[in-house]
Amino acid sequence: MGTSNIVVGEIVETLARLTHAGTLLIVNALLAALSSAIFTTLHLSLRKTRHIRGLALWAASHALIAVGFSALVLPAFGITFFGLALLGNLLIDLGTAFGLVAVLVYFEHPLRFGRVLFVAAIIGAVEVLYVLDRGEDLGIMVVAGGSLKGLLTVATGIAFWRCRDDAQRLAARVAAAFHFLWAAALFLRVSWWEIHPLASGSHDPTSAFGLLSRLLLTWVITPCILWMLSRQFDAELIQLAKEDPLTGIANRRVMWELGERVAADTSQPARRFAVLIVDVDHFKRINDRWGHPGGDEALKTIATLLHRLTRAPNLLARVGGEEFMVLMVDTNEQAVQDFAEELRGAVQAFSIAMGSEHLLRCTVSIGHHLFHGGDSWNNAVTLADQALYEAKRRGRNQAVASAVLHDGPEAAR
Ligand code: GH3
Ligand code: MG
Ligand code: MG
Repeated sequence: MGTSNIVVGEIVETLARLTHAGTLLIVNALLAALSSAIFTTLHLSLRKTRHIRGLALWAASHALIAVGFSALVLPAFGITFFGLALLGNLLIDLGTAFGLVAVLVYFEHPLRFGRVLFVAAIIGAVEVLYVLDRGEDLGIMVVAGGSLKGLLTVATGIAFWRCRDDAQRLAARVAAAFHFLWAAALFLRVSWWEIHPLASGSHDPTSAFGLLSRLLLTWVITPCILWMLSRQFDAELIQLAKEDPLTGIANRRVMWELGERVAADTSQPARRFAVLIVDVDHFKRINDRWGHPGGDEALKTIATLLHRLTRAPNLLARVGGEEFMVLMVDTNEQAVQDFAEELRGAVQAFSIAMGSEHLLRCTVSIGHHLFHGGDSWNNAVTLADQALYEAKRRGRNQAVASAVLHDGPEAAR
């Protein structure tokens, strides 16, 4: 215990000697104000196009911290009154609590963490009552304020750490690590006050240490949150570029990228791939009968049905208006024919509810082609398309293999 006391004391005192508390207060206030301005600007500029939860709370959190630090600077300008230091510290505590709520709201974490806020509020209330009763004792304010902020900061760190989004995880983990570091600094300061024999209630030799560690947190946390946001935007853009907006399944771009890669992959010649083009029969009539919105509903329902039947690693995409495509990997002629038949039969058997009274039934025609070594992707698609044309020519609601175009009509289906 004796040796650790000396080590803790030496670390805190050395850091405190390196810096000037007044300057650190001003820099902390300015940095928090800058962060608040950044989050306010982002919140206001993004508000019209998208809703990002938590931005306004982060802006408020940093604004409270900036005002809190500004209040602590006032005595240097000759402005002081009883409770000013307590008020400044409570504003910073409140800002820290807002910071926790902001992360919970941003990640949509359950408000289970609310219990932490309750405990923090009790510590804050005890601190206020103590100061009102006995005056502004720095030792009590550091211990109560440090414990309160330490608790909130650990909870905020855990909330960042539990980020479930792959794209944002690294940035969130860095933010979490710095929160844990700051919490450690807070508890270090609290323990200095608990164990230091020279601790006095009227002078705080650890304030520079506390301010320096807070400065580091604000300095790191704001870029981390901006980093998380940019990762989120990137992930959304990538998702939008891959997704068909009407049905939510993959779009033509994804299918072409995978198809070209698969066709060009000659490293495993034994593997065989198949492409199936699924086209809704007489879709124009559906639009004519039910209107464009009705047609859209039918497309969404058919997409959901096809998606349910397409198992990974096979890929389903919407590649045209009422045209879908499936890329089957590691397959053979029989499996492709069976799957095409399964899709065709499923659509035929399905009824799509149109309003409360009407049921829409429709069919699809399918052309499919099994890749042979040396096929290019475009060539394979052309052959599947020719097979589809043949399926339409034969009266629709059927699946035709490209092989029949070369092997004669007997090889059909
Ligand atoms: P076939 O059996 O020969 O395939 O006849 P079809 O009427 O299905 O074929 P055609 O290609 O002539 O018509 C397709 C129609 O699909 C024309 C177009 O208005 C409609 N369509 C394309 N995209 C959409 C869409 O996103 N929503 C709706 N509701 N209709 C669409
Ligand atoms: Mg059609
Ligand atoms: Mg078509």
